[in-house]
Amino acid sequence: MKCSIETLSKMTALLVADFEEQMKTSTSTSVEIEQGLRETLQRIGQESLGQLLTLKDEHNQTTQEACSCSQSARRISRREGKLLSVFGWITYRRSYYGCAHCHRYWYVLDEEENLRAGSASAVMSRLLA
Ligand SMILES: [Zn+2]
Repeated sequence: MKCSIETLSKMTALLVADFEEQMKTSTSTSVEIEQGLRETLQRIGQESLGQLLTLKDEHNQTTQEACSCSQSARRISRREGKLLSVFGWITYRRSYYGCAHCHRYWYVLDEEENLRAGSASAVMSRLLA
């Protein structure tokens, strides 16, 4: 996936305008500007990834899910999970299902995407290896 040129242009313009405004009232070195941009882009990545995983769950999950025991499980709630991504720790929400027949409880999104809450994401794991 890639960000569109239009969105990239808008984001760049917003960032530059924000930093330019700050430069009017304080003296900033090029090092401070570079570090500020790096931290800002990292936070955008954290927020965006968390929101996108949450949206993926909202778009794909329903109140009922087929259980491996062939019975129907119901969504109990939507719960928060944390992942160590390349942007740092992110927070997302996903549906939690339970089967009254076999008492299996699981997160469909985590299983489908091979996410292990509390651990490193697949991309981060590759970087750490
Ligand atoms: Zn079951």
